[in-house]
Amino acid sequence: MQSCVMPLRNYRKLVLAAFLTGWTVSWAQTPAQWKAHDMERPRPPKVTPSLALPVPPPSDAQVLFDGSGLSKWRSPNGAPARWVLRDGYMESVKGSGYLYTADSFGDVQLHVEWATPTPPEGRGQGRGNSGVFLMGLYEVQVLDSYDNHTYADGQAAAVYGQHPPLVNASRPPGEWQSYDIVFRRPRFSRDGALLKAARMTVLHNGVLVHDNVEIWGGTSWLQYDPYKSHPDRLPLSLQDHGNPVRYRNIWVRELPEWTSAGPVDEPVEPVVTLAPSVLERYVGRYQDATGRNIIIARDGASMRASILGRPNLDVLVHSTEEFSLRWTAGRLVFDLNPQGEPLSVTFHIGRARFPAKKVD
Ligand code: MG
Repeated sequence: MQSCVMPLRNYRKLVLAAFLTGWTVSWAQTPAQWKAHDMERPRPPKVTPSLALPVPPPSDAQVLFDGSGLSKWRSPNGAPARWVLRDGYMESVKGSGYLYTADSFGDVQLHVEWATPTPPEGRGQGRGNSGVFLMGLYEVQVLDSYDNHTYADGQAAAVYGQHPPLVNASRPPGEWQSYDIVFRRPRFSRDGALLKAARMTVLHNGVLVHDNVEIWGGTSWLQYDPYKSHPDRLPLSLQDHGNPVRYRNIWVRELPEWTSAGPVDEPVEPVVTLAPSVLERYVGRYQDATGRNIIIARDGASMRASILGRPNLDVLVHSTEEFSLRWTAGRLVFDLNPQGEPLSVTFHIGRARFPAKKVD
């Protein structure tokens, strides 16, 4: 019996045939999602980068490789690194295994410079293949993608098997290229459940190729590798994929914990409740020496202020002498007479002070 299995690459023909003949299919558009490594997936447009290399490390960076030695790198078994050190760069050695940093990292900004062999050898995934692995698990692909046909999610600067780069900013083989990677590690609960997926922003030769993309799990060939709970810090690694790819000038900046908190929505200082009759004493206009106004108003038990032209600011009351702005670190400090009536107010914001006398 003849097989009815059709190669996936022919599915557009199938859709066209369906359209012409009236078959029903589930969709007839470009799919919103692609299987990993699909050669039909559109390849990103080429961009000629302009970034000058090397990019020196900033003052707070940890230098992982400056060309002088491999002391901060290890073989997979923890033994000294076996890649070749030569003329200020290191080069992967076929069969020597991945390199791992001796130190472990979580959230980082990572700068890596690399070059694929010239003259180029091999094709597709066999041409200048290596990779930069965040936490040893999440690969930004290194490949000669200057003039080399492969699947979009496996070309240079792809988050391998997941996200093709937005553009192909590759330089020719043999030329130094760079990745600047901002990586936010995945977060797991104590019982190992995924709380937050990892994210990456990547610039290839100074050109944005990933804009805070979500990583689905470990990057791998053929298989889907969903998240498995792992430590908050793990070594970075560089891939030995059998091609003599070179690296130089590698530095990393550890990033503070990621918070997505919005504006302060709860008072951060104790708030007191004053009787409306007491609050009413503060209501009025205060004016500084240059004629600028601070206006205090009451709305039931709530106070509001217009300060230096900014109207309708929420005010919190901390004492009879001190109010604050709800959203910003601005304070209103009152000078009271013996009867508790304000004579003046000084608005404090940053290092600035705005003293204003009550005028009506
Ligand atoms: Mg690779």
